[in-house]
Amino acid sequence: MTNNLETRYSYLCEYLFMNLLNTIKRENDIAIDLLSEEGVMDEWIALMEAKGLLQASQVDKIREVSIDVKKVQAFRDLGRRSFSQEGTHPDLMGILSSYTKQSPLAFDAEFMPLPSQGGSDGLLALLSFEMLQAYQGDLFQKVKKCGSPTCYAFFVDTSGRRKWCSMEICGNREKARRHYSKKVNE
Ligand SMILES: [Zn+2]
Repeated sequence: MTNNLETRYSYLCEYLFMNLLNTIKRENDIAIDLLSEEGVMDEWIALMEAKGLLQASQVDKIREVSIDVKKVQAFRDLGRRSFSQEGTHPDLMGILSSYTKQSPLAFDAEFMPLPSQGGSDGLLALLSFEMLQAYQGDLFQKVKKCGSPTCYAFFVDTSGRRKWCSMEICGNREKARRHYSKKVNE
């Protein structure tokens, strides 16, 4: 199941919030919001659990209440806007901490956060907590939009030199495009 699902997303990594940002992708010049497809929200949560980015107890809690997908989409879109601009949304930190207050997190002996509410409130509290931690750990500065104009993915640029979410796909596609347009102009 996991392998088939992974090809659906343009860039999967070890950060839950990054994977949420990338639930929009571009295919044949059309933006596809994966979360708006029936059942994908549940599938995405299962995939995150399979990848160890959500723990069973967190997923059990989230699934206690049905998820309001529109709330998750709005949260994701705010994140995408923030990372698209130079610097982040002026009040992104305030917004994120308000989500963690809406559904306060409890921590177990391993410091694993468990939301007090299920559904989208619980999921967004977990995502906000992870983003606040990422912000404090300077990860935010490394979040980049893929350099390919035909790709919507965000990725984490650990080296500071990476331009594409994937060298194999976007890097090569972009090289081929440049090579071709050079030929045409000659
Ligand atoms: Zn890309």
